[in-house]
Amino acid sequence: MSGEFGAVKSYLMDMDGVIVHEEQLVPGADRFIARLRKTGHPFLILTNNSMYTARDLAARLALSGLDVEAGSIWTSALATAQFLTLQRPGGSAFVIGEAGLTTALHEVGYTLSERNPDYVVLGETRTYSFEQITRAIRLLDAGARFIATNPDPVGPSRHGSLPATGSVAALISKATGIKPYFVGKPNPLMMRSALRAIGAHSETTVMIGDRMDTDIVAGIEAGVQTVLVLSGIPRSDGGKLSFSSHPHRRVSGRPCRGHQRPLNSCIPWAYGPGCLHNAYRPGRRRDLSPRRRARLAGGLNVSRVYRSIQRAILLS
Ligand SMILES: [Mg+2]
Repeated sequence: MSGEFGAVKSYLMDMDGVIVHEEQLVPGADRFIARLRKTGHPFLILTNNSMYTARDLAARLALSGLDVEAGSIWTSALATAQFLTLQRPGGSAFVIGEAGLTTALHEVGYTLSERNPDYVVLGETRTYSFEQITRAIRLLDAGARFIATNPDPVGPSRHGSLPATGSVAALISKATGIKPYFVGKPNPLMMRSALRAIGAHSETTVMIGDRMDTDIVAGIEAGVQTVLVLSGIPRSDGGKLSFSSHPHRRVSGRPCRGHQRPLNSCIPWAYGPGCLHNAYRPGRRRDLSPRRRARLAGGLNVSRVYRSIQRAILLS
């Protein structure tokens, strides 16, 4: 199946680095979403960030210039709430996190409690407190189960890295000897819950992401087709695919040789003219005709190139 695309009926896509980058809309993302709406393809925008509610995130995307409904956004907080309600309906939780997480838990009928809760649920926040962490440690020692929304050790900010859920989870784990169950990517549970949310089937769904170690691994494990965009955003793996698995398709974001655009302004999957010069399928490059390879490499006849890839991806 690798390298081949089946019929595509629905789309999952990562938010940060694929739809927006540092609150700037990735060029072409709005056209892509508009096209999905027009063709009636169900889609969800995924994020491991559990701080905000889907409605908050929709408002933030609107400020970046993209109009999507809250129902088109799927967060690790929503996935966590869905997981917990399936595990223990109507349970209770001590939560370290923000409105995104507490709202999601309330909506599935959970009560928040500091006394004898079923779970300690850790999410993203900018106000981790010693008291809260101490409380979480004591509740875990007393028998509560440990759930964390996502394993990311750091998050991005304009001024550099911020400690994120994974780092705080490590602190609590060190103190208790108890490891959390992480619900967000790369746990395929996040993908499966997203598929359920839009009534999609894994075999006819594509996941578009910019990280091999989270988006693509989760996609592969959930059985969906995968597109990795190397969008020029700094990558921990340096853009090298040093993984035992690889995406069904990879779209390079090296500086666009056709237009000589700088990094980050050329996101190939977004179908913007001039943004597909470096596109190719893994393992297929040698199969391209010399003429087509020249087009891909040199940016000749851009519109034909991007139309052909658009057709290949939007098969149905
Ligand atoms: Mg990303």
